[in-house]
Amino acid sequence: MAFILPPLPYDRSALAPVIDEQTMTLHHGKHHQTYIDNLNKAVDADQGLQGRELPEMLSTASSLPKVVRNNGGGHWNHSFFWETMRPGGGQPQGELSDAINSKWGSFESFQEAFNTAGTGQFGSGWVWLVATPSGLEVTATPNQDNPLMDVADVKGTPILGNDVWEHAYYLTYQNRRADYLKAWWQVVNWDKAAERLAGAAR
Ligand code: MN
Repeated sequence: MAFILPPLPYDRSALAPVIDEQTMTLHHGKHHQTYIDNLNKAVDADQGLQGRELPEMLSTASSLPKVVRNNGGGHWNHSFFWETMRPGGGQPQGELSDAINSKWGSFESFQEAFNTAGTGQFGSGWVWLVATPSGLEVTATPNQDNPLMDVADVKGTPILGNDVWEHAYYLTYQNRRADYLKAWWQVVNWDKAAERLAGAAR
């Protein structure tokens, strides 16, 4: 039961101009596929990893071989990322909107906190909105780490995640990560985010 590349839930050009078609093609078809291929190779070679669900495996990241932490994280994070977006974007509603406003005061202040964490991540990594037992938090992780991992500074249920590796934005935004983070809000799938919050253990 090898891990497989999930199809994109929309056309490769559907998020343009925020994310251009060539970036989507390479990011999904090449980068994500490579994480999967390397994860499958590592799991094939290690009986202790076989038959385990990926989120459970990642929750033990501190004791995983580095290649599994990196490529397993890469597979989980990218699968999550494609579903975090949709053409047309939108605005948070209901319980999620209320939780954001009660934590940050306004949607704009939350966006600022998220963008600041994303630009502040040194080198490659991810920026997250996470549901924790004590409420919503914004956090960043290096490499392909994520909030499911026991090594994460902020652990919990990821609600949103944005990829701040250069491969996610370089063709359109070059070195301007801040511009990419700002534009990205136009393609966030808030219905998916709300669904994740509703499913988060509290
Ligand atoms: Mn990526």
